[in-house]
Amino acid sequence: MAAAEASMRVGFGYDAHRLAKGRELWLGGVRIEHGTGLEGHSDADVLLHAICDALLGAVGLGDIGAHFPNTDAQWKGIDSKRLLVAVMSLLQERGWRVGNVDCTLVMERPKVMPHVPAMRAVLAPLLGLALDHVSIKATTNERMGFVGREEGACAYAVALVHKS
Ligand code: MG
Repeated sequence: MAAAEASMRVGFGYDAHRLAKGRELWLGGVRIEHGTGLEGHSDADVLLHAICDALLGAVGLGDIGAHFPNTDAQWKGIDSKRLLVAVMSLLQERGWRVGNVDCTLVMERPKVMPHVPAMRAVLAPLLGLALDHVSIKATTNERMGFVGREEGACAYAVALVHKS
């Protein structure tokens, strides 16, 4: 392969968080009114964590647990958009740009689809992408398993990155 050839890589991310009373619900960088919220060291934005892991995975830099350990007080309660910004810096320092991101949030309630336009509007500029290059899909788990019992939520993401 010629050294000057453009390179392209794909990454995958998965995350899950428990739902708890008395927590704010943050999904895709957007606060959603609901009786429960996701529990975690940060704001527990499961969708952003899956996206961060997809980006880190694409460039072989491990996962967000390695970069932002949940034992480190500086990340406590942090807005996960700041984690995404930090992940984007790691990519940019190495010359990588994001091509597109596609993700699926799996959650029983509340309905996520009405909030997707707001999530895309928040995430597109952070990823350096046009809106139509940030895809956010949502589904329930048809009342099955931990998601179905509303014990938690999970998210999956894939990201394409490239450098010329
Ligand atoms: Mg997480």
